[in-house]
Amino acid sequence: MKMVINGKLIDKDDKIDVINPANNQMVDTVPSGSSEDIKNALKAANDAKKDIKEMSSRKVSRILYNIYEDVLKNSNSLAELITLETGKPIKDSKDEIKRSVETILLSAEESKRIYGETVPMDACIGGRTTLGFTIKVPLGVVSAITPFNYPVNLAIHKIAPAIAAKNTVILKPSIKAPLAALKLAQIMASHLPDGVLNAVTGYSRIIGNEMVLSPLVDKISFTGSVETGISISNKAGMKKINLELGGNDPLIILEDANINKAVTAAVSGSFLNAGQVCIAVKRIILHENVADEFINKLVSETSKLNMGNPIEIKTDIGPLIDEDAAIKVSTLVDDALNNGAELLLGGKRNGLFYSPTILDHVTSNMKIVRNETFGPIAPLIRVQSVDEAFEVANDSKYGLQAGVFTGSIENALKAARTIEAGSVIINRQPTFRTDNMPFGGFKMSGMGKEGVKYAVEDMTKTKLVIFG
Ligand code: NAD
Repeated sequence: MKMVINGKLIDKDDKIDVINPANNQMVDTVPSGSSEDIKNALKAANDAKKDIKEMSSRKVSRILYNIYEDVLKNSNSLAELITLETGKPIKDSKDEIKRSVETILLSAEESKRIYGETVPMDACIGGRTTLGFTIKVPLGVVSAITPFNYPVNLAIHKIAPAIAAKNTVILKPSIKAPLAALKLAQIMASHLPDGVLNAVTGYSRIIGNEMVLSPLVDKISFTGSVETGISISNKAGMKKINLELGGNDPLIILEDANINKAVTAAVSGSFLNAGQVCIAVKRIILHENVADEFINKLVSETSKLNMGNPIEIKTDIGPLIDEDAAIKVSTLVDDALNNGAELLLGGKRNGLFYSPTILDHVTSNMKIVRNETFGPIAPLIRVQSVDEAFEVANDSKYGLQAGVFTGSIENALKAARTIEAGSVIINRQPTFRTDNMPFGGFKMSGMGKEGVKYAVEDMTKTKLVIFG
């Protein structure tokens, strides 16, 4: 698969293999981009700024609608590529693509709704005879850096709003899963003036660094781990930056919860994409009085999950992304067991496949819940009261989303007031996102919001015009 620089497909002799984690076979290669390649892409994006800035919003919107049609036509091949390069079950890859086309559609709509405002200049001494209004102008060049786990939709959440607001973009997909993102970029770029969208693959120390440090870049839009986010933010200087980082989302089940619904939410939230989701359920905080009923049903429902070849439609759980990820999950489970947790289900590793695992009697200080565990693990922390549940939920450096099951409006409102997270979701798992909602975490989970309307706003700057 080739890179896209200044409207051309670029290959290199130096290549990086993309391996299917389900069978260890090579899917394809991508170019190992050099420092010269990224500099060329940055120059192309910088030169193309005027081409898109001078376009009418109507035209930009039309282009985004055409891209929507084209990506829709390529849905099946994009979904298949995601499965081959990440091991994500094909039914979930298809869901990702359905959401991706909707994200483009939302951006096509939003591109016509970029408003400034009039400023009541006469409210201040000296302003009485003036007229003031603001206009929203593009930022310029946007560096979009994306992770492996939702390689298409998370790239679109940056590219489409950036274009809607008339910016140019350089996309750097994760080297663990670059193929579907590159194909997406090729499709999108074919509808845009040369240089408006560029996609470069390669090692972060070369490509990523330049995308963060270059004076040609006006905004960095990053989705990935807290560690990488901090390192990028430390280098970004005065550039505008948006960070969508890791999570440690709690699913809280109170005494008055509908247990059957809570179990369904726990299974889907803990094990979707083998737990490799920023908003996966990473801690189940469970009221002691309903623990037995919940746990019996959770074990029974989880046992029905089908782990296997992700390209088969019946598969619920595929492999983890690579060996490091599988070893990390295995080590964290062992650590929890050595510190008093009880294994109720799973706990077995076979290569990159890790079986869906339920751990009881987990405590808040165990490593498996202190940091983000990106694997198919449901750790149960038992609590005695509503207050204790919310305290445990907040006892984390992360604050992306939280799910709370309760039958009481009082508890729901208390959760909404008390829990420190970007979204508090009542009677649903935190593993929930529509592509128009404001999305982004508190604390170490990030800075700024995505979700098309909010991302478009964030891809502009405000200019004031005054008539004296
Ligand atoms: P990662 O941080 O390892 O990599 C993310 C991207 O950053 C990749 O493209 C990587 O190549 C690049 N990168 C790494 N070092 C860099 C550097 N020094 N300079 C520039 N770029 C660099 O994350 P990952 O393992 O691909 O993804 C998993 C993480 O992403 C998890 O923590 C997950 O929670 C998080 N995530 C967050 C969201 C969200 O919206 N909040 C969504 C998905 C994933």
